[in-house]
Amino acid sequence: MAKIIDGKAISKQIRSEIAAETAEFIKNTGRTPGLAVIIVGTDPASQVYVRNKRKACEEVGFYSEGYELPESTTQAELEALVDKLNADEKINGILVQLPLPKHLDETAILLRINPQKDVDAFHPYNVGKIMIGNYKFLPCTPAGVMSLLERSGIEISGKECVVVGRSNIVGKPQAMLLLQANGTVTICHSRTKDLAEVCRRADILIAAIGKADFFGAEYIKPGAVVIDVGMNRRADGKLTGDVNFEEVEPIASYITPVPGGVGPMTITTLMKNTLISAKESVNA
Ligand code: NDP
Repeated sequence: MAKIIDGKAISKQIRSEIAAETAEFIKNTGRTPGLAVIIVGTDPASQVYVRNKRKACEEVGFYSEGYELPESTTQAELEALVDKLNADEKINGILVQLPLPKHLDETAILLRINPQKDVDAFHPYNVGKIMIGNYKFLPCTPAGVMSLLERSGIEISGKECVVVGRSNIVGKPQAMLLLQANGTVTICHSRTKDLAEVCRRADILIAAIGKADFFGAEYIKPGAVVIDVGMNRRADGKLTGDVNFEEVEPIASYITPVPGGVGPMTITTLMKNTLISAKESVNA
């Protein structure tokens, strides 16, 4: 029977630490960390994420601004808003909720955000800093996974870590962070041969492919730590991860549930990054 890594509880603990640090920061500087969240269009899942992000801001004592723009927003209008927020001293973090509607150039928008306010850490400047291990912001989901491992007392150094998924927002930065923590890292993707065999080498398996209940018992080495980043909707509307929890839980040593595992940590890291940015802005 695996120990369940309770992302909700760990996240709550970290958020209360951030709230205490924020109160101290406000007392010392008279400034309140500020996050601006922009959403374009009416995707219901994105709207839920945006609402949760603003709620988290309230919880830790941040100032927040929300921009809900219509689907018809043009590239020039969105860029003008990003420029305005780049110049706004009240705002330390700018988050553009992805995906953007098809007619908008996502890459150009992400490049437009001042890297000092890029609290999602998607700007190539920040991605480059992560590569060389000299970073200010960490990408929210992979950093959340690292906090879960750390706070659960799981040693990474020298361990075989297998990351399945190579997206720019999860798989690649996740692999980099595990490498920096001295893990021996393998990255798998849709062309990997004998995926189950490679996964069975893992002391720490990170599943991030977006396929419901994909990883069954045959992918797991007994005693492995299994982190499920996946968030998928079953036909009945239920949220489920990439890991078949019922099959894997009896074999693993630690496992994250979905929901209540990695999910809550992503927004918590966003709060952490916004506070870091606010602190840097006073030192600048
Ligand atoms: P992407 O779709 O961008 O990437 C998926 C990756 O998985 C790709 O690299 C793809 O390989 C690989 N892949 C797909 N199918 C297979 C397969 N059968 N075998 C091996 N590899 C496969 O997804 P994201 O990285 O954005 O997200 C992954 C999951 O994590 C999703 O479920 C998403 O909802 C969730 N997520 C959760 C977050 C959270 O806060 N908990 C935050 C962000 C994402 P290839 O490159 O070869 O195509």
